[in-house]
Amino acid sequence: MSTTLITNATIWDATGSPAFVGDLLIEGNRILAVGPDATAGRAPADQVIDGSGKTLMPGLTEGHAHISFGDAASTEDLIAPSPEAHTLITARMARRLIDQGFTSCYGASAAKLKLDVAVRDAVDAGHIPGPRIRAGSTEITVTGGMGDESRLHNPRIGISCVVDGPEEMRRAVRLAIREGCDNIKLDVSGDPFYPGSPAHVTPMSFAEVQMAVDTAHAFGRKVNAHSRSIEGSKYCVRAGGDGLFHVEYADSELLDMLEEAKDRIVIAPSIGLFHAMIHHGEPWISRAACDAMGIPALIEASVETHSALRKRGIRHLIGGDYGLAWNPQGTNARDIQLMIDYYGYDAAGALACATRNGGQAMRDQGDLGTLVPGALADMLLVDGDPLADVTILEDKNRLAMVMKDGAIHRIAPGLTDCATPAQRRVA
Ligand SMILES: [Zn+2]
Repeated sequence: MSTTLITNATIWDATGSPAFVGDLLIEGNRILAVGPDATAGRAPADQVIDGSGKTLMPGLTEGHAHISFGDAASTEDLIAPSPEAHTLITARMARRLIDQGFTSCYGASAAKLKLDVAVRDAVDAGHIPGPRIRAGSTEITVTGGMGDESRLHNPRIGISCVVDGPEEMRRAVRLAIREGCDNIKLDVSGDPFYPGSPAHVTPMSFAEVQMAVDTAHAFGRKVNAHSRSIEGSKYCVRAGGDGLFHVEYADSELLDMLEEAKDRIVIAPSIGLFHAMIHHGEPWISRAACDAMGIPALIEASVETHSALRKRGIRHLIGGDYGLAWNPQGTNARDIQLMIDYYGYDAAGALACATRNGGQAMRDQGDLGTLVPGALADMLLVDGDPLADVTILEDKNRLAMVMKDGAIHRIAPGLTDCATPAQRRVA
């Protein structure tokens, strides 16, 4: 197996230890050694990368990935493309994400059932560039719930699968799994974009949630829930769900339940969506529309709930519904600064949400998201110090190298004399 040595970098390994200057040795697709004596007693590496003056850190995980959302300005933009056209959009977004340092995507939902699946498989086969992907299913909702676009006079097919009752839920989950999805997405609560089913209500029943979790777990797949309501989030924790998205509203019982479940559950607060609606919504969404939807109040609730959950040691992920016109795919690293601004994380804590916690969500084995011997070699060499300013990660020109699975996706010219032409590919 070929070896790559990165020398003299400031290494932030995301384990909780302070950053240190040292070397990191990669063999094949895994990290072999890290530290000042990483090369002691070993043969010279096949390839050497000079990390002087740069920070080496784990690759980022988008924890609420909608890879198939190609900067849509409306629901219609997600419905209209044919599966063929939409697959190309999804592949383009996957490329954009890895260019920006996202080496993993934890799938929330796909706009059509097999978009994440097809792109995941093409990436894994080496046919197209992209992150590791846990493929999301379509949203699964209930009649009248978030995402049910149909009306009696207009049976419109949206981007969600509509089920009613545990048996229909079982069938929908099994179908998504048969077609290759890794992550099942439930719309348990309502949403401010659906006036008939607002954020605080819980249209999906506990029996439906429990059926989805039991069915997915029987296949070894995960279930993540869109849940803004207190009752909906409690359903998911009680049913044994794996991930929660949003979770703005909470009472003390829910906070206790989440703390107790913190070793098995991850949460993406997804503040990026609302932040972008308020600050970058024009011309698509006016401030008046945000106010009418109650977005400021939801942000206030989010700050209160997730600041409390941070103190309780919950594993937060970054990821805020990127892939919409006002919140474009590729700007996802903005969520790291938002974890600081809204929830009180320090830089290392926010970066851990984007790396270590994301790695744990991707793979239960815990061999992703930290730079330790034995871990998969997904990492970024950053021109600068993200611990001093996390926003430098939003600029792909500051990413001197993006490596996934031991292979260099892109590297700045002149960093290594030994890269092969394929490894030297610069975006
Ligand atoms: Zn979402």
